[in-house]
Amino acid sequence: MKSSSSRWTPTGWHRLYLETPEDWSIGAISGDATTGYLRLDDAVMPRVEVRWEPVKGQEPLDRIVARYLEKLTEKNRKKKTPPLKVRRGLNLIKDEAVLQTRAIEGFHWETESEDAVQAYGALWRCSVCNRIVFAQVLGLDRESIFSTATRVLNTLRDHPEGDTVVWALYGMKFETPATWSLKEHRLLTGRILLRFTGPDGEIEVERLSLAEMQLNGRPFETWFEQTCDGDIDRRDSLSEAEFSHPGLWYFGTAIDPATVHKRLGWLPGRRPKKHGFERYGWHCAPGNKLFSLRRPGERPTPEALLNVARTLTCHR
Ligand SMILES: [Zn+2]
Ligand SMILES: [Zn+2]
Repeated sequence: MKSSSSRWTPTGWHRLYLETPEDWSIGAISGDATTGYLRLDDAVMPRVEVRWEPVKGQEPLDRIVARYLEKLTEKNRKKKTPPLKVRRGLNLIKDEAVLQTRAIEGFHWETESEDAVQAYGALWRCSVCNRIVFAQVLGLDRESIFSTATRVLNTLRDHPEGDTVVWALYGMKFETPATWSLKEHRLLTGRILLRFTGPDGEIEVERLSLAEMQLNGRPFETWFEQTCDGDIDRRDSLSEAEFSHPGLWYFGTAIDPATVHKRLGWLPGRRPKKHGFERYGWHCAPGNKLFSLRRPGERPTPEALLNVARTLTCHR
């Protein structure tokens, strides 16, 4: 497999984690922590697909593998391409720690058409998080994909080992406590927004691209203040010593948009409610990006926010 990039990069999504060549980027992402799908593509084709779903019943692993491969064959039949040539029972995963808690079957398949495609993959059932994970690394038949494929498959994890979860996408990476889950996400070209909920509230991580354009000549401080939707009561600046860039921390009060009533807004019970918020942000000049972490809360508890900020890799 020819890869224009020798660097590898992590992708972390809903407790799924894997490492791939840097020029494979997210081509499709759907579902949630229970059931979902993730695909990374390069300029040529889809390169890795990962599916996850909860374990249902006692279906033996080899039957699940057969079912998954049958689905692929089915897809091929519909496209009227020749059937898959499948090899099963391959030992592609070598990591003892992975093998310990998972029943795994590795496989390889290839098509026999002129522009033939092949894949090395593994399907496993994890006894810790009770998920079935199906992953395959694809290539053209004439490419030698074995070493890249097994390297990718051996980095794949379906639950965190420690008490934090790695989130990594589009070149940014950070950790959240394992007790948090992703509630909402927006993955737009110029803006990534991830909203998490945990036992003590919510937290929002936002990345804006084209920082220079966003700032439009303003110093970061001015932009940060002007984009705070509320009154700032306390402010602090945090040095580069702990974070990758010097950052600003604000605590203030904002109007809760959900309580803004357009009609009869003058009635006492309909007055908009206010809530406290804190926000930490910085300008990543080398990556030309703006980062902002936000957390609603009546009292400032900067540690919740800053603990996430400390883990955030914003540029390479
Ligand atoms: Zn697991
Ligand atoms: Zn940076």
